[in-house]
Order: sequence, then structure tokens, then C-alpha cells
Amino acid sequence: GQCVAVCPTAALTEVNNTGAVWEALSNPKKHVVVQVAPAVRVAIGEMFDMDPGVITTGKLVTSLKGLHFDAVFDTDFAADLTIMEEASELINRIQNGGTLPMLTSCCPAWVKFFEHQFPDMLDIPSTCKSPQIMMGSIVKSYYAEKMNLNPKDIVVVSVMPCLAKKAEAARPELTKDDHSDVDIVITTRELALMLKEAGVNFAGLPEGEFDQLLGESTGASVIFGTTGGVIEAAVRTAYDWITGESLEKVDFQQLRGIEGIRSATVKVGDMDLRIGIAHGLGNARKLLEDIRDGISQFDAIEIMACPGGCIGGGGQPYHHGDMEIIKKRQAAIYQEDKNKILRKSHDNPYIKKLYDEYLGKPNSEKAHDLLHTHYVPREKI
Ligand code: SF4
Repeated sequence: GQCVAVCPTAALTEVNNTGAVWEALSNPKKHVVVQVAPAVRVAIGEMFDMDPGVITTGKLVTSLKGLHFDAVFDTDFAADLTIMEEASELINRIQNGGTLPMLTSCCPAWVKFFEHQFPDMLDIPSTCKSPQIMMGSIVKSYYAEKMNLNPKDIVVVSVMPCLAKKAEAARPELTKDDHSDVDIVITTRELALMLKEAGVNFAGLPEGEFDQLLGESTGASVIFGTTGGVIEAAVRTAYDWITGESLEKVDFQQLRGIEGIRSATVKVGDMDLRIGIAHGLGNARKLLEDIRDGISQFDAIEIMACPGGCIGGGGQPYHHGDMEIIKKRQAAIYQEDKNKILRKSHDNPYIKKLYDEYLGKPNSEKAHDLLHTHYVPREKI
């Protein structure tokens, strides 16, 4: 994958973690939970001779249930949760004179890059953990309590489009009470390998449904898989919260596309929200240097290390730089968003339940404890 060639993370060499997953699944003392990222569902079919851009969400769920995970959850749920926290943080910074722009923080390759290359700007990334880590954190707290399980007996497995997510799960900043939020990360390719080892006829599987509690998601979370999606999801929620109205036209075409650096201004009530988007680390560097030099002014920025965002991630079926494949995956992501009845993160009923029963409000003390992190200046490399 292209990300591997450019990202200075610890995930430079590809490690196969499928053995650890098989081991966890065969250990009767462990409660093994799996989550799947948005970009996986529009690409894994390619490993089973399906066309790029076919949406395989239901088959993916069935395949995971067939491997006997104890619960199959959706990273999209955690993406909705990320938006609750991130949109609150953005509004808070705008209204209280905080540091702007706020940068999204879900891509661990760029977070690491940033810590090395822009140690003087560590106050601009959002403090939100990424969706995969938020899911792990909620599984080992809220879900563990509900299921009466000891967090130490739970194994959280992530299926990610990404190699850097392996290094992210191991960040010491994300270890709490002696356990990591996420235990094992496998890529889209590694899951396909496991399914092939198990002799699964993926294309022929019936459609399954994610387990409830942490399985429901909105269209806003699906678009996390493509460049521009995280910021569009954040805008949908920030709009409603700032204006007190319910936004009807949720498709922000001006934030979409495939160009390496994009910018747009979105009207939110009487405010102009200035948004910058970059994908690919070279583009990210340029965008950040322009901000540091005062050439560009933004309120919010989204950066993804891989071309196209996570749909073009280093753990995805190989696309060999073929942007046509990336565009088909991207179209599938926007289609999946369109197919959803709920398209704003704050409308997710299970997210509301999580706040009502457990977290209180976005950015509450408990939310900070479980869902936020910090960054560390690292040596320039
Ligand atoms: Fe991983 Fe997505 Fe970042 Fe690529 S863009 S490194 S797949 S999080």
C-alpha cells in the first residue's frame, strides 16, 4: 500500500496478527469482540473476486459471526461517538477563543507524522481518540459493565484498512488501568486470509446484522472511510448544534472529491466555517506549513495519510495506485451513507442511550477519561 511507503510510523513492516486472533477465538475463557471499520466493507469483496465498490456490509457481519466472535460491533458506531466529542470540541474552541484550526485525529499515521514534524503545533489536533480506540474503550467499560465481564477477560479485535492502526493500538498514551483499549488489529487483507483459511464462500454469504448496543450507525459515520468524510460528518452535527435547527440537505458536495488538497467555506447560521482537507502525507505537510506560515486560515482541518483516505489504506486489497478502484470504493461509501435512514451522528439512538446511561454529556469528565488522549512531541526524523 502507498501509506506504507510514506508513513514514518512503527508499522513500516507488515506483521501478520491472524494467529493471535485464532488463539483468542479458541480460548474459552476469553470474550472476543470484533469491530469493523467503514472502509473494509467496500473493499474486502475484491479479495473474493467481487468488483471494486460492491457494498458487502451484511456478508462481512455474517462471515465474522461464522468465525464465532462473541459480539460483532461496528466501528461506525464509534465514529458517531467521535463526532459527538469532536463537534463539541470544535464548537467549544470556536466559542471560547480556543486554538484554531482544530485538526481531526482519527488517522494514526498522520498523528505520528505530526508529532515528529510539527511538535510546536500539538495544541491543534482534536484530543479525541480515533473511532477504533473509542470502541475498545467503550467495550471495556460500558459494555463490560452491562455484560458483567471483567475487562481483562475481553479481547477486542479490530478489522482495519490500515497498517498504522496496529501501532496506534499499542500507543502507551492509550493504555489505561493496565489494559489497552484494543488488543489485536488485523487488516482487511488479513481477515480475507482468515476467511479463506476457514473455507468461507464470502460472495455467497447471506446478509447479517451487527449486534445491538454498539452496532447501530448513521450515514455520517460511514463516510469516515473516505477523504473529506470525517469533516463532513462533523459539520452535519455542528450545524444542528450551532444553529439549533435541523439541517435538511446533509450532502456537502463542496467537501467531497479526490484532489489532494481541498478547501471550502460552509455557512453555519451567520458563521462561515472555513474547512481544509488533505490526503497523502505530502499534501498534509503542505497544508500544515501554509497554516503555520499564516498563508492559510481555517477553522477545521481533516488530514488522512492515505490516498483517498482509508479506502486507499495500506491494509486494503491491493489497488496498485489505481485511482479508478479508489473512486469506486468512494462511490460505494457515499451510496451506503445515502441508504441510511439516519445520517447525522447525534441522531443515533444507541449513542443517545450511551450518553444518557453512562457518559452524561459530550466532553464530560467521564467522556474525557474514556474517549480523549494527548500527543507527545517526538524527535524530528
Ligand atoms: Fe490508516 Fe486511514 Fe490513516 Fe491510511 S488514512 S493510515 S488507512 S487511518
